[in-house]
Amino acid sequence: MSANNRHFVAVIGGATAGSVAAEVLADHGIRVAVIEQNSRPYGKIEDGLPRWHAEQRRQEYAKMAARLNKPGVTFVPSTKLGRDVDFNDLTEKWGFSAVILANGAWRDRSIGIDGADEFIGKGLIYQNPFIYWYNHKNEKSYNGPRYEVPDEALVLGGGLASIDVVKILQMENYERALKARGIEAHMHDFEKKGIPAVCKAHGIDPASLGVKGCLLVYRRRQQDMPLAQPPENATPEQLAKTESVRQKVLRLAQEKFLFRFQDCRLTQGLVVENGRLVGIKVSETKVEGRKATPVPGSEHDLRAPLIISSIGSVPEPIPGAIMKGEYFDITETDLPQYKGNDRVFGVGNVVTGQGNIRVSQVHSQKVTERLVEAYLGLGEGGEGSRDISAGQAGAEARGAAQASAVQEMVKTFPSLTDAQIAGLEAKIKVQHDRVGYGGNYDAWIAKVTPADLE
Ligand SMILES: Cc1cc2nc3c(=O)[nH]c(=O)nc-3n(C[C@H](O)[C@H](O)[C@H](O)COP(=O)(O)OP(=O)(O)OC[C@H]3O[C@@H](n4cnc5c(N)ncnc54)[C@H](O)[C@@H]3O)c2cc1C
Repeated sequence: MSANNRHFVAVIGGATAGSVAAEVLADHGIRVAVIEQNSRPYGKIEDGLPRWHAEQRRQEYAKMAARLNKPGVTFVPSTKLGRDVDFNDLTEKWGFSAVILANGAWRDRSIGIDGADEFIGKGLIYQNPFIYWYNHKNEKSYNGPRYEVPDEALVLGGGLASIDVVKILQMENYERALKARGIEAHMHDFEKKGIPAVCKAHGIDPASLGVKGCLLVYRRRQQDMPLAQPPENATPEQLAKTESVRQKVLRLAQEKFLFRFQDCRLTQGLVVENGRLVGIKVSETKVEGRKATPVPGSEHDLRAPLIISSIGSVPEPIPGAIMKGEYFDITETDLPQYKGNDRVFGVGNVVTGQGNIRVSQVHSQKVTERLVEAYLGLGEGGEGSRDISAGQAGAEARGAAQASAVQEMVKTFPSLTDAQIAGLEAKIKVQHDRVGYGGNYDAWIAKVTPADLE
């Protein structure tokens, strides 16, 4: 780095967007500290993508390692902004040239009924902790909450992540039912072949197992489900095509995983008995465009032994950071800049919370359709049809574009002096010493990865 162009940037979060940002900056000679709350930096890829995407996870972990191992990048694990390091201290006092928020969207959007969250763990679960449990439950060292997955659970959602939740519920219930008949069936078989095919291979009619199946409830019409997105400025034909893709995806998913579905249902209230949530009050809806209006007189109860809300994720607020509604106050432009400090930026899911497949902006509709089907395990054909890397490439490309814009901006900021850089290194060392990080990324990952991590 030339003496008149010395910059040091902190990136918060080391997953897809954070590691891509670190790489873009490092490739331009900018020093980077990647501050990550967890011991491993894989974010949604480890804890949000269900664990059956084993190959995709392995590939993404390797890509993140390559990026975080780049010369000039320092990894700072197990360090949470807002808990271990104060937001205003880091952004205003530490002296970084810039701070990039790449901390994703980890807070489940509330179901929006007053008092509902009192029933978390008492009939109500949110999607993020549910998927986290599912991905880690078989590890010996897992000590988080454990969930029962009863038959006939109710899932509020409609997007891709809600289909993941439904698949988990169905696979767990059929696995249990087959086990009761002395048959061991594995998640990977169910996920690849579908529940009817696995049962058939054992000479069993799935209907004879007595599983009634979970119910997915969506507030708009099935053709409105955010399972696929139209291109920007779509023509009427493209919009119609997107609607038919959504319906096809839902039909294939139901055929393969045997869940029930109701559209045009809006959550209006809670059904509570003996201190436990035992159902929700819903109204049917009339849908016009994006608007779903309750139909008067259509109110009824949907009872269920468990309700899982999967209606989207938003960023977790960080104490001291300015929010605008559910998001950080970051402009949604090519250069996503935080309003409270012109040296703070955002990249990745933290900007919009958008964690689902938005590849239609990058790929053709046909490719998008295949990707969605491959992601949900609905594609026909062999292993090749399950390649979802092009989807993740969309998230990476978006992160890289945002990081490049930030990088251009950072280069216009004044260079740091040797003393300022030494001061930052000393502060980073305090964090490294606190968590016992010796400076070698690969050695650290080997140390903190459970031997039985799937
Ligand atoms: C097939 C497929 C296609 C996809 N297509 C797209 C697409 O086109 N567009 C898209 O946007 N997404 C897409 N995704 C989703 C994609 O996986 C996510 O967008 C992406 O992984 C999110 O990355 P992120 O780095 O923004 O967030 P995360 O993965 O959530 O990473 C955030 C990181 O920040 C850390 N962190 C959080 N809070 C703090 C804190 N306070 N202090 C320190 N660290 C913190 C977290 O631990 C985590 O490691 C796709 C996924 C798949 C599987």
